[in-house]
Amino acid sequence: MHETPGMNTSERQDRRVRLLREIEAEIRETGAYTGRMALAREVIDAMAKVEREEFVSPYQAPLAYENRPLPIGHGQTISQPYVVALMTDLLELAPEHRVLEVGTGSGYQTAILAMLARQVHTIERVDALADQARFRLKRLGYDTVEVHNGDGYEGLVDHAPFDAIIVTAAAKEIPPPLIEQLKPGGRMVIPVGGRFSVQNLVLVEKDETGEIKTTSVLPVAFVPLKHRR
Ligand code: SAH
Repeated sequence: MHETPGMNTSERQDRRVRLLREIEAEIRETGAYTGRMALAREVIDAMAKVEREEFVSPYQAPLAYENRPLPIGHGQTISQPYVVALMTDLLELAPEHRVLEVGTGSGYQTAILAMLARQVHTIERVDALADQARFRLKRLGYDTVEVHNGDGYEGLVDHAPFDAIIVTAAAKEIPPPLIEQLKPGGRMVIPVGGRFSVQNLVLVEKDETGEIKTTSVLPVAFVPLKHRR
């Protein structure tokens, strides 16, 4: 475990609580767009418990409780905590759920999901990031998580269907395999848009008959979802 110099456990806890207040304020401010004025209690508790500084490099650790994205190497970023909270909340997870995450990155979002659902499968195309996240999540005791190396555009057909799917990189379109792998009654959140065009966070709901409804929630800025096609 890398400790932030001069910061003890209770100081880290204080910083997480302060960050959560900022996130909750931003959730209220954006409530008119997102339709959510407040986070679910369970989401707040998960955000309060997971130590974000464990998911960044030691020299970024002093910034871990700022409400902003941070670089994690390989041209990728750990998402802004407000965005992590909002996306998690939109999934409306229940303790029996099985979740797919596309874009493991640091594993921070993965850890939040693991606090709220029975099982999390996460897939990352950069091998070094996947391997690092697997090691880190294991060390921190998140043993209901399975990290896969590969192209998440295709989902994980061997483990489908999923109650919820979260994509943490921006796709040009909603990948059809992911829609396929979502259970009836399931929810997916995904940023949709190009690298230099406007991206929107989209909520995809599949009803019990398999009908799909999409809702644009908020303009966002994510790294691109890479795909060979
Ligand atoms: N959830 C992450 C955010 C990481 S940024 C976190 O909390 O840290 C998005 C990640 O998606 C990057 O690590 C990038 O390598 C990965 N990615 C991009 N395209 C992908 C694809 N097709 N399949 C899987 N991962 C992908």
